[in-house]
Amino acid sequence: IVMQEKGSISIHTENIFPIIKKFLYSDNEIFLRELVSNAVDATQKIKRLASLGQYTGELGDLRVEVAFDADKKTITISDNGIGMTAEEIKKYINQIAFSGATEFMEKFKEAKDANEIIGRFGLGFYSAFMVADKVEIQTLSYQEGAEPAFWVCDGSTEFEIGEGILEERGTEITLYINDESAEFLSQYKLQEILDKYCKFLPVPIKFGTKTESVEDGVDEEGKPKYTSVEVDNIVNTTNPIWTKAPSELKDEDYLDFYKQLYPFSEDPLFWIHLNVDYPFNLTGVLYFPKLKNDFEFQKNKIKLFSRQVFITDEVKDIVPEFLMLLHGVIDSPDIPLNVSRSFLQADSNVKKINSYITKKVADKLADLFKADRKAYEEKWTDIGLFVKYGMVSEDKFYDKAKDFVLVTNTEKQNFTLPEYKDKVEANQTDKDGQLVYIYTNDPAKQDSFIQSANKKGYDVLVMNSPIDNHFISQLEQKLEKTSLKRVDADVADKLIKKDDALETVLTEEQSTQVKSIFDKAINRPAYNVQIESLNPDELPVTVTMDEFMRRMKDMAAMGGGM
Ligand code: ADP
Ligand code: MG
Repeated sequence: IVMQEKGSISIHTENIFPIIKKFLYSDNEIFLRELVSNAVDATQKIKRLASLGQYTGELGDLRVEVAFDADKKTITISDNGIGMTAEEIKKYINQIAFSGATEFMEKFKEAKDANEIIGRFGLGFYSAFMVADKVEIQTLSYQEGAEPAFWVCDGSTEFEIGEGILEERGTEITLYINDESAEFLSQYKLQEILDKYCKFLPVPIKFGTKTESVEDGVDEEGKPKYTSVEVDNIVNTTNPIWTKAPSELKDEDYLDFYKQLYPFSEDPLFWIHLNVDYPFNLTGVLYFPKLKNDFEFQKNKIKLFSRQVFITDEVKDIVPEFLMLLHGVIDSPDIPLNVSRSFLQADSNVKKINSYITKKVADKLADLFKADRKAYEEKWTDIGLFVKYGMVSEDKFYDKAKDFVLVTNTEKQNFTLPEYKDKVEANQTDKDGQLVYIYTNDPAKQDSFIQSANKKGYDVLVMNSPIDNHFISQLEQKLEKTSLKRVDADVADKLIKKDDALETVLTEEQSTQVKSIFDKAINRPAYNVQIESLNPDELPVTVTMDEFMRRMKDMAAMGGGM
């Protein structure tokens, strides 16, 4: 090889290498993601040029290949994309901060699928130096009369550029893996990284071969015979479901994809296909999983992609907190990558994406509710937690969900908020016109109170999920002229203040006598004894604790020092 030129990469690089190494990429395995996406990029570009009539040669079998040689300690990524001329290497590779993809996008931005060009990763190519002492490029541009070019750099700011050896269009990048990164020189490790980041890239990615058993005629008894054949090991699915139109897809496709993402999970309850291109670009499929008791472990299962390249499963700032239990995939080229968390939170696209997802989830729930109330009620135990959590944490979600959130009474009947109001309004409005909803947070322990409330014709709601305390205060704030009272807060008669005097079968004198017997027997001033009736099939007496005293006691039980 005749070296035609030596040079040094523009001065900024001296500062940039340590930044790449330490800050931008906390995880050095992403070098492979970056180089494979560049190769995919180059492949998409040649396809694009061909479809625009600007490239008239053979496209050939477009694919990217990853290979390694443990003895030589190299990893090679090759493609038959657009390739580069020596001039382009200088421009695109040497001028680090310059993104060739950005320029390409500018030039072809009117083109429909220019979007497919992955070009968001900025310093992608140089991430190779996180794992390599030396990087070589062999490349041949698609342009007519182009000469093959060669580039080598040892990670310092010095590079050499010269004549290359490629005879076919495309690019081959060879990394000479450094000693600390020897772990990457393994079939298993590379396959694992490719599975993680490249599983859904739009161009086939070949990594070695694998044996497959295929049907090969029939034997004498007419049974099929099988033989093993070596086939290319293609690591990816080029058109995952989120890139397709919902109308092309069946329930089965969504369920299969779910199984592919989370192999050992139960089927999800339902899903939402996201698809928006204005004012930001976002596609994806979000699933409502069937929650297990240890649902904390089910958090953080949403995978974030950018143009089909896996980025992260830390989606905390993109998906509203209350939807962190959802599973699935979000793909958006408009989410800034490799930037700090606080920047992400301030980013306006991220905010819009956040409220878009909230809206889509609310719309989906509203649809399910309208389409099949019975099926919706059956799933309510699983989805109720999301819905209430969402209502408590986001006003916008509350406004949508107030029409399809369900409350359940002790008879296990479900009501929407408007339905419940209709049901209890007549009997549970106090003398000031205030609606009073009565609830229990422990139906077993509070059974006698529930019975006496029921006897008064009052309905009792069950509010015993982990989020219900907050949900109750939210309802009190949001519902007009409505308060919620715990069924054991007072005796049934007094839960709802009414004008009409108490009816009791005992005279006042008899009542007082019976009460004093109970008071003596219980002998605790904090408890109230109330004589209800002496009717044999009714509760004769209730004992309640003053609400203030009850809270003090609860605090003491919680170690509040009382
Ligand atoms: P980005 O991909 O964001 O542009 P990179 O640092 O990953 O940044 O790549 C810089 C540029 O180098 C690319 O934009 C492209 O022009 C060129 N390049 C890198 N890899 C290849 C390749 N395999 N084939 C053709 N051009 C490439
Ligand atoms: Mg790149």
